[in-house]
Amino acid sequence: MLNVNKHEIEGGVQVELIGAIEENVNFEELIGAFQGTLFIKCRGVTRINSVGVKTWMRYFQALKAQGKVFKFLEISHPIIEQFNMISNFACGGETLSVCLPFSCGVCQKEFIALSSTADLKANALKVPDAKCEKPNCGAQFDDDPEEYLYFLQE
Ligand SMILES: [Zn+2]
Repeated sequence: MLNVNKHEIEGGVQVELIGAIEENVNFEELIGAFQGTLFIKCRGVTRINSVGVKTWMRYFQALKAQGKVFKFLEISHPIIEQFNMISNFACGGETLSVCLPFSCGVCQKEFIALSSTADLKANALKVPDAKCEKPNCGAQFDDDPEEYLYFLQE
């Protein structure tokens, strides 16, 4: 089940995707018509299966064919996996920011930090340091940085 929160922002419309992209997801219906740039916030996407991938590709390729501009932000782990596996997963859309998973070994807590793709590229795809909420903790990146950010390599 996928929920979409849609609201107008400067220059276009932002949709926030929350839930799973699977069978029965109809982006045309969920997102509807929009003016200007479509910003797709993906942080809340919990999973996407093979049917969801096909639906995604069909929807965004159609937008691209219509000359629409769309940008992805806060892409989460399940979406990043697809970006890394399918070279054309963005369908011509720009990716503005990514969710970076960290964990604190002291608190045994996982959390997400955000980074813009521009910053990551400017730093040779080096994952920035993140800190746990507590002052004396550190935090470790929870994935293989090279694999995780593979899709940003040029
Ligand atoms: Zn901590």
